[in-house]
Amino acid sequence: MSVGRLPIVELPDARVAGFEALVRWQHPERGVVSPIEFIEIAEECGLIGALGEFVLNSACRQLMAWQRQFGSGMPRMISVNLSRAQLNDADIARQVERVLHATRMPAASLQLEVTESMAAQGDDIRTRLLELKALGIALALDDFGTGYSSLACLGQLPIDVVKIDRSFVADAETNLHKRVLIEATVRVARSLGMSTTAEGVETDGQAALLTTLGCDKGQGYLWSRPMTARAATQWLAAQSEASQPVEAVPAAVR
Ligand code: MG
Ligand code: MG
Repeated sequence: MSVGRLPIVELPDARVAGFEALVRWQHPERGVVSPIEFIEIAEECGLIGALGEFVLNSACRQLMAWQRQFGSGMPRMISVNLSRAQLNDADIARQVERVLHATRMPAASLQLEVTESMAAQGDDIRTRLLELKALGIALALDDFGTGYSSLACLGQLPIDVVKIDRSFVADAETNLHKRVLIEATVRVARSLGMSTTAEGVETDGQAALLTTLGCDKGQGYLWSRPMTARAATQWLAAQSEASQPVEAVPAAVR
């Protein structure tokens, strides 16, 4: 089991904002097993709580290590996906609080992602989302546009960030309908004080269009594929160097 790190960047200048932690399972014979498959298995075996805590813990530790190495804004946050079983666990907010405490991570640096179908599921789930928000973390609505909820429902969910699904981004340049939907999502999100992140950005043209449409952040192969910890650290080092102002050379050594 390993955690891939996918950069999330600011638009339009592609400065790094954070990373999404993606769980992967490299099976010795079967290759990479999809999360949908092994999360289902983990849920069935009652291991999902432990798996969720492991991912959260390693993500927070990683962010703190990067900030020690590169400075507090490098990167600012880490985003972790919650599974349905985790959100059904009445203890989830306490678990997250425990991890934040153990890793000494400020709550504001953590974002948790839930899908529309998970978030829009009755009062128990809503209470849990509000408990998580009360810790000071950010909540993101993952893969927006693929579920059943509409733009009209956004205002009823206690979320901070709308992640626009890759299926909209992929066709945005050629399909007017998709483009209008992205634009409407950005406007509604803004009017509710939420920000937007586009998923699955693969081309410069898509990034430029998303910027024009007012999208705040993006993630996707245009900037990077999910990386190992080591590769992500090297990637950050390169970003950090590129963003340093060129130091004036003192006259004495010129
Ligand atoms: Mg996600
Ligand atoms: Mg997603």
